[in-house]
Amino acid sequence: MAAQFQLIRGDILHFLADPGEDTAATAYEYIADGGLLLQDGHVKLCGAWRDVAAAAPEGTHCEDYCGKLIVPGFVDTHIHYPQTDVIASPGRGLLDWLDRYTFPAERHFSDADWATEVAEFFCEELLRNGTTTALVFGTVHAQSVDAFFSVASKRGLRMVAGKVMMDRHCPDYLRDTPQSSYDDSKRLIERWHGTDRLGYAITPRFAITSSEAQLEAAGTLAREYPSLSVHSHVAENPDEVNWVQELFPWSRSYLDVYDHYGLLRPHAVYAHCIYLDGGDRQRMADSGATAAFSPTSNLFLGSGLFNLREALDAGVHVGIASDVGGGTSFSMLRTLAAAYQVSHLNAYVLPALRAFYLSTLSGAVALGLDEKIGNFLPGKEADFIVLDPQATPLIARRMASAASLEERLFLWLTLGDDRAVAATHVMGKAQWRRP
Ligand SMILES: [Zn+2]
Repeated sequence: MAAQFQLIRGDILHFLADPGEDTAATAYEYIADGGLLLQDGHVKLCGAWRDVAAAAPEGTHCEDYCGKLIVPGFVDTHIHYPQTDVIASPGRGLLDWLDRYTFPAERHFSDADWATEVAEFFCEELLRNGTTTALVFGTVHAQSVDAFFSVASKRGLRMVAGKVMMDRHCPDYLRDTPQSSYDDSKRLIERWHGTDRLGYAITPRFAITSSEAQLEAAGTLAREYPSLSVHSHVAENPDEVNWVQELFPWSRSYLDVYDHYGLLRPHAVYAHCIYLDGGDRQRMADSGATAAFSPTSNLFLGSGLFNLREALDAGVHVGIASDVGGGTSFSMLRTLAAAYQVSHLNAYVLPALRAFYLSTLSGAVALGLDEKIGNFLPGKEADFIVLDPQATPLIARRMASAASLEERLFLWLTLGDDRAVAATHVMGKAQWRRP
């Protein structure tokens, strides 16, 4: 079959590295009136429009987004698709919220049809909000992951997900065993990991809901599949941290429990990381694991304020996460606004450029996918979104007086939500267009 070419025109922003504090100009590329030349859904060329247009074969179709900003699709580094229907359920903290809302909702996912319907809605909602890749929790039911991957595969999405491993301190109807969680995970890995654009994550829910035997089983899977992601929660809430200390009296810290079972390594992603000490941060940095900063969830459940500055300064890799349903929005723009505010309360003013880096390339690195996605280097898969400076009357009005790129990005992240996303393209193809 002949190669399929596409041209995309608009302002372009993508990252090559962490722009850091002083937003180092070598860390990103911004091209006013730029273009992307795509070949079979992959980036062939990214540059000034006239150069890109000149390089395109005669008659190549052009999608014109002049005046709008094209950025790589957002990467959400921690989200629960089965919690779509518990978003905005008020709880008295994490453990109460799990018991009263989340566990009962997860029960439905033993039904494959239910799971499929929720997965369809979930993927649509991600795309509407400009998220093209996510690290996703299923439920304890293997069929919840089969359903999610089937839906993601049909849409050609790059997604990473896993079955929850959970064998204690939860309702009977959500309980597996060390052996069944190992067997189910292994079957899912063999069936799905590396199929289409899908990847598997070994997913113990958190240390409280896994026995030592089950954490051993997770560690065994991690050794057997050294390239896989590991996905869990750590140090979200003080009551949770104290309970872990009672359950694992031998451990130096909550994080140390995962370390003990071989679950800290590159492409391991731990949501929250709020109550870590200096030793934990050092261990996170040395191991290459990622902290998934989930600010709307941390505020909503009253969990605490993640210290982004301390984490970054210690060399911890950080991704941004919505953590729906604890989080209150699928929008990474809403999430970045909360990240900015939480950081500000910890005496750190997060630059908007760095915020966009954290929610794109940094997320791709967290999942070991930066060879495939995260920016517009040649050969990358063309997952990108189009941000509209006229998205709302207020954004349009305020944008008119925004002088710099940093100011414009800050406006989108402070005032924007799903309405700011004019289109979401997956492998070059528009899968969402705002009506
Ligand atoms: Zn979570």
